[in-house]
Amino acid sequence: MSTENFSILLVDDDEVDRLTVKRALKKSGLAVNLTEVENGENAIATLKLREDHLVEVSKTNTTLTTNQQTNNKFDVILLDYRLPDIDGLHLIAEIKSINLDLPIIVLTGQGDEEIAVKIMKAGATDYLSKAKIEPKNLAISITSAIRIHRAEQAVEVANQRLRASNELLILKNQELEKQQQQIKLQNIQLQNSYNLKSEFLATMSHELRTPMNAIMGFSQLLLRQYPDPLSQQQQNLVERILNNSKNLLDMINEMLDFSKIEAGKLELKPQKLDLNYLIQLTVEELRSLAFQKQLDLVTDIKLEDPYLIQDYNFIKRTIINLLSNGIKFTESGTISIKAEAIEENQIIISVTDTGIGIAPEDCDKIFQAFRQADQSFTRQHSGTGLGLAITQSLVTMMGGKITLNSELGKGSTFTVEIPRKYDV
Ligand code: ADP
Repeated sequence: MSTENFSILLVDDDEVDRLTVKRALKKSGLAVNLTEVENGENAIATLKLREDHLVEVSKTNTTLTTNQQTNNKFDVILLDYRLPDIDGLHLIAEIKSINLDLPIIVLTGQGDEEIAVKIMKAGATDYLSKAKIEPKNLAISITSAIRIHRAEQAVEVANQRLRASNELLILKNQELEKQQQQIKLQNIQLQNSYNLKSEFLATMSHELRTPMNAIMGFSQLLLRQYPDPLSQQQQNLVERILNNSKNLLDMINEMLDFSKIEAGKLELKPQKLDLNYLIQLTVEELRSLAFQKQLDLVTDIKLEDPYLIQDYNFIKRTIINLLSNGIKFTESGTISIKAEAIEENQIIISVTDTGIGIAPEDCDKIFQAFRQADQSFTRQHSGTGLGLAITQSLVTMMGGKITLNSELGKGSTFTVEIPRKYDV
C-alpha cells in the first residue's frame, strides 16, 4: 500500500454515509487527510479556498505542479451523487467550469447505477455504489483514480509540449517558405536582368557594327589614294583609323558572339574539314600581328589523317582566340601551335607562348566572361575579357574541353581536346 498521504474532500449530506466512508478509509490502510462538507455549495467554496488546487498548466510554461509536491491540495473528491442543493452531474460540471482539475469518484445510491455512464461522461474518474463501500475497493478506487489522473496530467503536459514544438515547427516552416519565395523572386529578377543584359549586348553590338564597317570602308577608300594622293602624315593617320576600327570591330563581334552563345542562338554545323589546312590558313592570317612584335609563329602538326567532322568556324575561332592571346601577352620569343591525334577519335590542338604567364589563382577566373587576370584600368593589354569564355563555350559545344598550364613570367599552354567526329 502507498505511504503517500492523500488529501480527500468528502462531499455527502448523510452523516451515516460519511461515517461508513471514514471507517472504510481507516481500515483501508491509506494515509488520508479528510475534509468533509455536506453540500455542493460548501464543496465549491472549500475547493475555491484552496485555489492552488488549480493545475498550473500554461501554454508557454508547461510546468505541472502535481499534488505530490504540495500537500495542501486535494488529491481526490469523493462525491455523493444526490446532494440536497445539487445533483452530482451538475456539481461535476461546476467544478470543471472553475477549472479545477481533480479526480472525482462519485458515490451512488441504490438505483443510481444507470446514471453511471452519464457521470463518467461528465468527467468523473470512477463511481462506487455506496452499498459496496469496503476498505479494499475504496482504497483501490482512490489510488487508481489518483494514478489515472496523474497519468492524464502527464500526457497533457507532453501533449502541450508537442503542440508547442509543432507550432514552432509550423512557424519555422512558414519562415522557410517565405525565404524560398524571396529566393524565387530574386531568381526571376536576376534572370530578367540577365536577359536584359544579353539583349542589350546583342542590340548594341549589332548597332555598332554598321558605323564601324562604314568607317573601315571609307578609310580603305582613302588609302587607295585615288584620285588625289595623301601626304605621308595623312596616310599614317588613316592607317591608324583603320587599325583601331578593326580592333573595335573585333571586340564588337566578340560581344555579339557572346550574346548569341548566351541566348543559345549559336548553332554548331559539323562538316568535313582539313585541320592541317585550317591551322596553316589561320596562322598565316595572324602572321603579320606576330611579325609586328617580332615574335616567331610556328606550327607543329603531327596528323596522319588531318580530316575531322567538326564545325569549321568554331575551330577557326578557337585557334584565332588562342593565338591572338598568345601574341598579345608575349613580348619576346615564340608562339607555337601543335596538333596531334591522341586517340583514334581524339584530337589535341595546343597553343604555347613564352609570354607573361598566368598566376595559379587566375587560371580558373580567366575563363569567366569579362574576367581578366589584370582587371585594373591601367592594364597594358586591351580586350573585352570574353575571348576565353567564348572559346570555352565553343569547345564544350564541340564535345571537348580546354585546359591551361601556365607559369607566371614564363609562358602558357592552352590545350584543346575535341573529338575528331562531332557526335550528333
Ligand atoms: P581578353 O584577351 O579580351 O582580355 P580573354 O578572355 O581572351 O579576354 O582572356 C582573359 C584574360 O586571360 C586576359 O585578360 C589575360 O589576363 C589572360 N590571358 C589569356 N590568354 C593569355 C596568355 N596567353 N597569356 C597570359 N595571359 C592570358
